[in-house]
Amino acid sequence: MRIPLIAGNWKMNTTVDEAGKLVNEMLPDLNNINNLEIVICPPYISLTSVREVILGSAVKLGAQNLYFEEKGAYTGEISPLMLKDICEYVIIGHSERRQYFYESGAIISKKVAAAINHNLKPVLCVGENLQEYEAGKTREVVTEQLNSSLVGIDLGNTLTIAYEPVWAIGTGKAATGKQANETISLIRSLIADRYDSEIAVNMRILYGGSVTAGNIAEFVSQPDIDGALVGGASLKAREFIGIVRATSDIRKNV
Ligand code: PEP
Repeated sequence: MRIPLIAGNWKMNTTVDEAGKLVNEMLPDLNNINNLEIVICPPYISLTSVREVILGSAVKLGAQNLYFEEKGAYTGEISPLMLKDICEYVIIGHSERRQYFYESGAIISKKVAAAINHNLKPVLCVGENLQEYEAGKTREVVTEQLNSSLVGIDLGNTLTIAYEPVWAIGTGKAATGKQANETISLIRSLIADRYDSEIAVNMRILYGGSVTAGNIAEFVSQPDIDGALVGGASLKAREFIGIVRATSDIRKNV
């Protein structure tokens, strides 16, 4: 039985003060939920202050990125060695990193390996853009992204994948539950081919793209979707709590 995961990606939003206020506002409600994992991914500079707030609670911490080297002359970068004692999860290969920072599959695969080697749990993002979607290339793109992001990577149950169609991110135009489930079940079969069916069956695969408290049920009621990576809605305390509660309620009834 896969435990659902709801992760909030705050992206480049919130000052340190604002991050503290937001997590304090959410925490009492999030703390009452015990049948899923909840992860908050604030900007790097707020990781330690958010960590102090959530310490001892059920909420876990994630980073939004890392660099694959441990230390050295890489100005501006943050290494797995710096993150591993602070957080449990790390988002890798988000479409915004691929698009604005030119992260290739080769770089992403080094990042996934670095995270796993330092006992961080990667959330690897894959997904097609609008042009690719309209050209019917979802399968091709997702297959290529998975293959190039997992080169030489030996997996246990450490990896979570987030299927995030780029056309659905921040657009208010979410995929349908059926569409998302179809691609996620393809991802599961690709993982089974690449590794084995046990790893595939146990792997958590999330949907991401304009998830709200109003539409989360459509996704988490699908057989292959194990939760969500949430962007914009994770910056609104009530909305994020609503997403977590709806997921928790659906899983109670399964
Ligand atoms: C994201 O950035 O991972 C994301 C899914 O964003 P949003 O929920 O705002 O579409």
